[in-house]
Amino acid sequence: MEILGKYGKDDLAILYVAKINGKVVEFVESIQPPLSREEKWVLIISTLYGCPMQCLMCDAGEYYQGKVSKDAMLAQIEHMVLPRFPDRSIPIPKLKIQFARMGEPSLNSDVLKFLKELPVTYDVPGLIPCISTVAPKGTEAFFEELFEIKNSLYANGFFQLQFSIHSTDVEERRKWIPKSIWNFEQIAQFGKKWLLPGDRKITLNFAVGETSIIDPQVIRKYFDPSQFFIKLTPVNPTYNAVRNNLKSGIKESNSHDFQLAKDFRDLGYETLVSIGEWEENQIGSNCGQFATQFLDGEVKLKETYTCQEYRLTS
Ligand code: SF4
Repeated sequence: MEILGKYGKDDLAILYVAKINGKVVEFVESIQPPLSREEKWVLIISTLYGCPMQCLMCDAGEYYQGKVSKDAMLAQIEHMVLPRFPDRSIPIPKLKIQFARMGEPSLNSDVLKFLKELPVTYDVPGLIPCISTVAPKGTEAFFEELFEIKNSLYANGFFQLQFSIHSTDVEERRKWIPKSIWNFEQIAQFGKKWLLPGDRKITLNFAVGETSIIDPQVIRKYFDPSQFFIKLTPVNPTYNAVRNNLKSGIKESNSHDFQLAKDFRDLGYETLVSIGEWEENQIGSNCGQFATQFLDGEVKLKETYTCQEYRLTS
């Protein structure tokens, strides 16, 4: 693996751009202040080279060049883990591995193989894999096997599943995620089967735009608050969000008193307005913000990327 770029700050987030087998991936390590790395560490890896789902606010959908192999997923993790934990023993109470940088993870069955190998590769009592998905049609077999893996290797709350649904309006959802996806009935039905005693609630995530249609009553019709958790996130300033004129409904100024969050709570949902650190927008480690772009038939580092000021040389 050849590192092409490294951006960020050790005390917040570091974004890596690397070439593996001639193709470019991005991966991230971050901490969540005020928690220290000794308490919680988040590693975010790519599962596809680009992404065929082409979500409206995400830069990964600009191209698609295939699946990242299990070994290439491991290479991303090893690059972040080995300098800090050379013996692969990681005594952190919460080590989250998110399959959420480039690519919809359910389109790659190597994610399942990788999940099976993780607990034997590393000694991590606090390992929590997190699958975030837009639930593409045709991925039913992936999720069936994921259910088995969760139950056998990550039971009792050591697995996090998130459906990114973005809107309660069918047309708007189709605009934000322009490929065939599961409808709410299918997600709710799967959720009922997924949850066993001790499991974490399933997250329903909305990237909230200024004009987004999000009706908590519609969610209540399908999703039981005892099974589903609501996460509201800003629309990050990606190239595609700017190009598609998507402005965030959640801003630094209103995030502490966000009405939609109250509306969900009134219906019984545990609800989080997940703003993270605004500085991550500059570093470019936030969801959908990529340091690379597809230009002249090649994946290249963006020359005018906002995170240039955070470029690290070592
Ligand atoms: S948000 Fe996820 S599924 Fe959508 S284009 Fe980006 S990586 Fe793919």
